[in-house]
Amino acid sequence: MGYFENSEAAQQQNRRNKAQFEHMVVRNLDRTNKTAIIESADGENFYSVTLSSCTCPDFINRQKPCKHIYKLENTLKETTAAAPSNKHFIVFLLCVLAGYFGAHYFYTKRYGMGLLYLCTAGLFCFGWFYDIYRIASGRFCDKYGEIL
Ligand SMILES: [Zn+2]
Repeated sequence: MGYFENSEAAQQQNRRNKAQFEHMVVRNLDRTNKTAIIESADGENFYSVTLSSCTCPDFINRQKPCKHIYKLENTLKETTAAAPSNKHFIVFLLCVLAGYFGAHYFYTKRYGMGLLYLCTAGLFCFGWFYDIYRIASGRFCDKYGEIL
């Protein structure tokens, strides 16, 4: 009995660790409804995740929180750190002042795009101007696909 409880707890801890350190792509984060689409580690499956359910085999078999649910939990905590309106303003300011260095991409943790902008001076300024327009019109997303 004790052994099973322990291993059960250890397994849940293992899932929490995975949620923190395993690479998982979170898409369509919906902060209001607390849902998201999370890509499987191999990128071949997409799971629809809420704080109490997930469409992955692990959850379906066990009906207990899987790593995707923990990941969603962590992501929601992470992204509620800054108020959305605040974030929008910061990104806009960064883009206007240092957009050709990709500062707004680094801020939203989209490092690939940030590096590209750094090397090409904001896609030769075209990308930079376009991003200012996109942010101002509320069509710029962070790395979770959430509009800022
Ligand atoms: Zn899952």
